[in-house]
Formats: sequence, C-alpha cells, structure tokens
Amino acid sequence: MIRIIKSATVPVPLATRGSTDRPRLEKKYAADPAACQVPGNKLLEAREGIYKDERVKLQLRIDQHDKCCYCETKGFAATSYEAVEHFRPKGGYQQAASDPLTKPGYYWLAYEWHNLYLACTRCNTDYKGNLFPLRYPAARAHSHADALSMEEPLLPDLATEDPTRHLTFRENAAQALDARGQACIDVFGLDRPALIKQRQDHLCNLHNARIVGAFDLSAPLSTRARKFLRDFGYTLAEGKQVVANAKQQWTEAAFDSAQFASMVRAKFPGKPIN
Ligand SMILES: [Zn+2]
Repeated sequence: MIRIIKSATVPVPLATRGSTDRPRLEKKYAADPAACQVPGNKLLEAREGIYKDERVKLQLRIDQHDKCCYCETKGFAATSYEAVEHFRPKGGYQQAASDPLTKPGYYWLAYEWHNLYLACTRCNTDYKGNLFPLRYPAARAHSHADALSMEEPLLPDLATEDPTRHLTFRENAAQALDARGQACIDVFGLDRPALIKQRQDHLCNLHNARIVGAFDLSAPLSTRARKFLRDFGYTLAEGKQVVANAKQQWTEAAFDSAQFASMVRAKFPGKPIN
C-alpha cells in the first residue's frame, strides 16, 4: 500500500445525487434509530448507482494509477471485479472477523468522496468486507450525529496517512512495524500465498529488467552485445527496444504508478518514487 493522492474535485454523481440522497438516510435514522440497529435490516441502504457510477470509478482508477488500493495489483480490472470500497463500511461493521455484523454502518458516508477507494475483489470481498477495527471500540461513531474525530482506526486511511509508517516488506512478504501494520496484513490479506507468489514473480522480473536495461548496444558493438543479439535472435533495432523497455521498467519500478511500489521501495530504498 502507498499513500493515495485523491482528486480535489468530487466526482459529479457524488456531489449531486449523493449530496441529495444523504439527508434521506440521515432522516430515516433519526426517525427510528432502534429499527436501524436491528440485525439484517435494510432501512439505510445506499443507492449503489450513485457511488458505483462509472465517473466515480474512473476518477478512482486515475488517482490510484489503475491499482488496487490495498494489494497494489495493477490492471486488476482485467481479471477481477472492480469494487468501490467504502473505507468505513456503509452497511454494517465488524470490530473483528469473529464478530457478528453490527448495524447500522457508516451510512452517512456512503457517498462521501473521502471514504471511497477502488479495490480488487479479493481484498474487498474476501478479506476486508465489513471490518473496521478501532483502537478503542467504545469511541465508534454510530450515527451522523457522532464525531468521527473521536475514532482511532487501526487501518490507515490512505488518502491522509502514509501506510509505510506501519508496514514494510522483507523481500516478498509484508512485515508489520506496529499494531496498525499487523491490522493491515490481517484485514486486507496482504500475505495471502497467491499475492506473495505474484510479488515474488515481480521481483524476479525487476532483477531481469535491471540486467537487460544495463546492456550497452551502442556502436561499436562489444562481443557481449553481439552475443546478446545472436542468442535471442534480435535485430539491432529490436535489441535496442528490449533494452529501452527494460531500462524504463527498472527506472519506474518504485513510482506511485508501479505495481507493488511499496514492496519495491522497501527492497530498493532510494529509488525515485515519481
Ligand atoms: Zn487487492
């Protein structure tokens, strides 16, 4: 995970239809708070057509460089459903995975730009779900009348906090620096085996890119350069393109836009980050 710089302009559907619908939810809660706390009730359901509007997703995709906000898998929309993630869950919450769902959730934040991110299905549905652990659960905001500022979430809010203060990587494995980092690993499943394998493959690719990108194919060609072209069957032009691509991949490996940038930054400190 890395810090995410979100657009200062709120996407239109949230600023218009979302702003209009939020008071409806607040009035419903105020009319009968007890009914809204009944397990399984659907009184405060948000209109998903608003927060799932393509314009909201597009802005999140841009701001997050087409990466899942949690696992940093890039281009995940090709193989996974893109979930609009509510950082503070809108429908109900769990302090721990073993707890039942408590209602209502943070219904008043369903359309709030600052509460939305884009996550892959694995991170969103299989792991985080409705989890939102607090350091002091008694301080939790239960309605729009309560102050969020009293809460101390264990999960860092990526738009306002730097997660690397709590979480780093040792090779391909996530390492907690404190309780908040451990909460990230547990809640987002950052050390699930398939993700560790994907990060390992990425590191191997980067090592290769580093080696190939350092190849000198300028004239006169060295014996090593001629062998490189011959071994892979490249023309000189093709070889130069391969080297340029590898050099670019290595140079940009720790950029905000790069896949698994947080792991790469831990592995190669000092690499430029944008
Ligand atoms: Zn993910």
